[in-house]
Amino acid sequence: MKQSSDLWHRARTVIPGGVNSPVRAMRSVGIEEPLFAARGDGAYLETVDGRRLVDWVQSWGPLLFGHADPETLDAVRSAAADGTTFGATTEREIELAEEIVAAVPSVEQVRLVSSGTEAAMSALRLARAFTSRSRVLKFAGGYHGHADPFLAEAGSGLATLGIPASPGVPSSVTADTVVVAYNEIDQAAAAFERHSEDLAAVFVEPVAGNMGCVPPEPGFLEALRALCDASGSLLVFDEVITGFRVGRGGAQERFGVTPDLTILGKIVGGGLPLAAFGGRREVMSRLAPAGDVYQAGTLSGNPLATAAGLSVLRRLRDPAVYEELERRSARLEAGLAPFGRVQRVGAMLTLFMGSGPVVRMQELDTEGYAALFRHLLARGIYVAPSQYECLFPSLAHGDAEIDATIEAVSAFVGR
Ligand SMILES: *Cc1c(COP(=O)(O)O)cnc(C)c1O
Repeated sequence: MKQSSDLWHRARTVIPGGVNSPVRAMRSVGIEEPLFAARGDGAYLETVDGRRLVDWVQSWGPLLFGHADPETLDAVRSAAADGTTFGATTEREIELAEEIVAAVPSVEQVRLVSSGTEAAMSALRLARAFTSRSRVLKFAGGYHGHADPFLAEAGSGLATLGIPASPGVPSSVTADTVVVAYNEIDQAAAAFERHSEDLAAVFVEPVAGNMGCVPPEPGFLEALRALCDASGSLLVFDEVITGFRVGRGGAQERFGVTPDLTILGKIVGGGLPLAAFGGRREVMSRLAPAGDVYQAGTLSGNPLATAAGLSVLRRLRDPAVYEELERRSARLEAGLAPFGRVQRVGAMLTLFMGSGPVVRMQELDTEGYAALFRHLLARGIYVAPSQYECLFPSLAHGDAEIDATIEAVSAFVGR
């Protein structure tokens, strides 16, 4: 029996569905037994069955220098030798905060947490406290982690109150969440008109990465900024994917729109569990112990995670990093363009099976994508196991890996 089949059996016995995060199950691409990772190096992921795959998932975005990046590993090893957690502040936490403040335009102060979910949840509490309001506007298909207020679906009709997207989420919680379509500024404006007095914040992925890669239409982010300014709501950019990926200063730098609060994750921890939220000092200083808004974490600012994050972020000061990421991502985009609709911003892109533009959450050709996924996996290329996700080029993906991927996609289309 294959080793992975044995692991799959054991996993399902003791872990719900056999995975610790649902998308790993690969169900949406029609795969019964997901892959089990043994190790990685650079652009490659090796499975427990000894298959070596070109990996475009890269742990869903954190690994800008690829798997087992030697500099990151050195930093983690050396930090670990001094102790793995203290529950007291270390200098590296300050250094990482300084690095983030220097890079991200809207951030004057930042708090470190352990996951994007935690960062989004905490940013919402802070926005509610700061504005003394309770409602939040989000966009259908926008993902801000799995805290209750964000697990809302659009109710029927424009700008109605959200309904729970999962059992276990009280409708009393999602009643404060308003959901409208991405890139539809008229819908956002109507929601503001209806709820303006009570809208604490707008949460938006400035480039959507969880409905496939969907860039903001020209003027969309600017219009959200203006709506927030007029009503006193806080504009919150969820840059968990885009932060340090579409540019050192994230999407806010790339598109020149400054949010009140920013959520960071994935890259910021260099592949270890670390995320952050930050913004204007006036808002951030409401957090305890400086202010009255409670937020805490035993492992927040963990020594290993800050060491990994610093190792990565310091190298991102060099503009050549982003020029190179752009060049490689553009090469992949150009190569894939004949075979579908490619949407890309910096080092995040999606190959959609259809030909028309995707500007909001919509039904996509998941069957066609599933067939492509299985074709590629059989040829040693591991792309996102969902049409609603992105490919994440890194500095470890060379022209050879890019061209092999293009060739494999071409063979699928021409089959
Ligand atoms: C991944 C992601 C999150 C959640 O981060 P976790 O660390 O998985 O909790 C939040 N927002 C966006 C945009 C993400 O892609």
